[in-house]
Amino acid sequence: MAATRIWIKNPLALFTANDRSAAGGLVIENGVISELLAAGQSPTAPVDSTFDAREHVVLPGLINTHHHFYQTLTRAWGPVVNQPLFPWLKTLYPVWARLTPQKLELASKVALAELLLSGCTTAADHHYLFPKGLEEAIDVQVQAVRELGMRAMLTRGSMSLGEADGGLPPQQTVQEAEVILADSERLIGRYHERGAGAQIQIALAPCSPFSVTPEIMRASAAMAERLDVRLHTHLAETLDEEDFCLERFGLRTVDYLDSVGWLSDRTWLAHGIHFNEDEIARLGQAGTGICHCPSSNMRLASGICPTLELEAAGAPIGLGVDGSASNDASNMILEARQALYLQRLRYGAEKITPELALGWATRGSARLLGREDLGELAVGKQADLALFKLDELRFSGSHDPLSALLLCGADRADRVMVGGRWQVVDGQIEGLDVAGLIADHRQAAAQLIAG
Ligand SMILES: [Zn+2]
Repeated sequence: MAATRIWIKNPLALFTANDRSAAGGLVIENGVISELLAAGQSPTAPVDSTFDAREHVVLPGLINTHHHFYQTLTRAWGPVVNQPLFPWLKTLYPVWARLTPQKLELASKVALAELLLSGCTTAADHHYLFPKGLEEAIDVQVQAVRELGMRAMLTRGSMSLGEADGGLPPQQTVQEAEVILADSERLIGRYHERGAGAQIQIALAPCSPFSVTPEIMRASAAMAERLDVRLHTHLAETLDEEDFCLERFGLRTVDYLDSVGWLSDRTWLAHGIHFNEDEIARLGQAGTGICHCPSSNMRLASGICPTLELEAAGAPIGLGVDGSASNDASNMILEARQALYLQRLRYGAEKITPELALGWATRGSARLLGREDLGELAVGKQADLALFKLDELRFSGSHDPLSALLLCGADRADRVMVGGRWQVVDGQIEGLDVAGLIADHRQAAAQLIAG
């Protein structure tokens, strides 16, 4: 059992993701932050245990807001290494259509373990493949999240517009609208937790304009409103997608989103690259969240998200590693580094600071998921923490500890806490046989490709 009151004492550096500071560390009581301490200050009441953090940089647990866990089985696959989005998808769809519950379980565990070791405590996954035999894909993922002791926003994805009807995915990967909606409602009823400290949440996530019908978009928005859950989809990732929307719907992407009732603060979008000024203003006014996925956008050469314009307009920005067939690493602290550098190319070095990038990876991402209890170090927030040491070669000679995390390329947390419990200790996940997991996962990946 976790001790009742824990003092994370005198950190080397600490990033709160807000305007408060806590040089003396913080006190955790029953899984929630109860005090922020100034330098030299002690807790107001006795603690049950003290963790000496003098060698650690302390961050709020990182929050990943877009992923496709199953894609860890198709990382760095030769035929798509040098492809942009549409041909990349068309080559991969038939492989992905062979996914099974056992393979999804392994893939989800691998992705979650990687994320956790990189300092991530809450992960969103966008799962939209439900071939025959894998109808209970989200149920499989719920179990994996519970085993790893993380928090997750599992999104019930969907594809309903197959090649035969002018969509991109092959027919065997699409489902009927009634099946999608019935399963969505079942999952929300069974798993969606509400309120502070929730571990598992469910959102609705039709895949993209070129793989679902407007009807499923509208029905998902109506269900999300009725059952009070969030909405997620891919939007404005590439110009191919914009051309598809113009040709099929006679609308640009944001007009299409608006036309199906999705332009709201219940929605967060993956990528959000190709917007004009008017579209940015409308997204900002609606408070629609944007998940920036820098590594994926660079790998597929999709473009650069206009983060600062979107933020200035009122659209919150969070970060996502995206699926492992287009990143191919599930590493949130490295993703914050990629965001820092890619956004500097767009806006210049002075405007894009390590604090800004880390703010997107924590507080910004929490806003995308509608989680007011996560993403910051403040009294009353959940005790989700990522602690990094600077004792590797790559940090030797560095001066500012917080900047060093991103500039020197930290890639692994030393300790990670979720809701007051240590899930990573000395760089290892408590209770997980990583070598065994890798062996099983590699075999599953080879089988999936072999067909
Ligand atoms: Zn994606």
